[in-house]
This record gives sequence, structure tokens and C-alpha cells, in this order.
Amino acid sequence: MRILLVEDEPGISGFIKDGLEEEGFAVDIAGNGRTGLEMAIDNISEYDIYLLDWMLPGVSGVEICRSIRKENKEVPIIFLTAKDTVDDTVFGLDAGANDYLKKPFAFEELLARIRVLLRNKTGALHIFEAGAMRLDLDAHQVTNNGHPIDLTQKEFALLEYLLRNKGKVCRRTRIIEKIWDIHFDKDTSVIDVFINGLRKKLDQPGKESFVQTIRGVGYRVNDDV
Ligand code: CA
Repeated sequence: MRILLVEDEPGISGFIKDGLEEEGFAVDIAGNGRTGLEMAIDNISEYDIYLLDWMLPGVSGVEICRSIRKENKEVPIIFLTAKDTVDDTVFGLDAGANDYLKKPFAFEELLARIRVLLRNKTGALHIFEAGAMRLDLDAHQVTNNGHPIDLTQKEFALLEYLLRNKGKVCRRTRIIEKIWDIHFDKDTSVIDVFINGLRKKLDQPGKESFVQTIRGVGYRVNDDV
């Protein structure tokens, strides 16, 4: 899951990025409205959710929100803002935002709202299963045949992505876009390292791998293992 955060206060954006990365999200930051608008529109198919500050130099969060909505009616948008009158809230929601979080807010609240919006978007619960594998997003836990598996944040995010797309081939470039942020150098070979790490932790000796390699394309979860 990849997030664009448009926020001009580095203290706030750094705090949010660190917290969300610990939860396995990839986070790109834009520090002003104009950059935020460009990143939002140029990569409209890559972001799963947008977090927009309201008061930004250059272009306001409301203008960015409206521009995103012209391109995509569904993608979740949350305003993070010091504005807190009823009129402002209504204005923000009218501009196409799904939710509105008043600063200062607790990180846990932001996380909870992101989870709710992503759940609404996919219409799914936060449990993903394939074979004996089970990933619980809320508990941030993976089990195999009921045994807990200890994964790094990136391994967890990678497994979540593969399970969300169970039955489909996940292209390596798409995995990079969804799990690594914009500063990543797009060297897709790093995915192989993480896939091998996952296999070591998830695969049973003598059985087929849980993650199938589709040569030249990417990977697919093997539901039969
Ligand atoms: Ca601001």
C-alpha cells in the first residue's frame, strides 16, 4: 500500500511517514502544494490513499483534492488540518475528501481511519488467507498452520500485497511501486531477495514454494500449499 502525504511542516510529515512505514506502508512526501499536485496527478494509479494538509504554500489541499477527484472518484483522501469549524469540515468533504482529521491528532487515530477507508475501498476484511497461511492486518500477524511467523516490515508488506492479489500474477514493477517509496532506485532485483526471505520463513521442507515465480514477469501466491 502506497501513500502520498502532502504536508509542508517537516516535523509532522516525518512523524507520519515514520509511523506509517513501521506499519508496512510506503510513503512519499510532498512538501508544498505544487509538488503535491504534480505527484498526485502524475502517479494517480500508484497511490492507494492520499493524506492532504489543507493550508499549503502554492496550491491548497482543497485544490489538490478536487484535481485528484477529477481523475479518480474512488481513491480515499483524508485532510489533515488545523481548520476545525463545521463550515471548513463541510467544505473539505464537499471537495471530495472521505475524512477529516484535526491537528493535533494521535497517530493511532490516523492509522485507524486509514484502515477503515482501505477496508471500504476493497470491501474486504483485514484477514487474508491462502492455503494454511493467514495474515491478520489489524493484529499485524502472520501464521502458518496456526504457528506465528516473524516477518520484517517489508516482508509483511510484500506478503500482504501478494495475498491481496491472490490468483493474479504480481508484476515486479508493480510490487516496487506499491511497497517501496519514490526514492527507491527501481532495481527490481531487490524483490528477489525479499521473496527468498519470505520463502525461507514460509515454505515447508519438501513442498512446493508458497510463492511461485512467473519467469520474466513476477510472482504469484500458490494457494495449494
Ligand atoms: Ca500547512
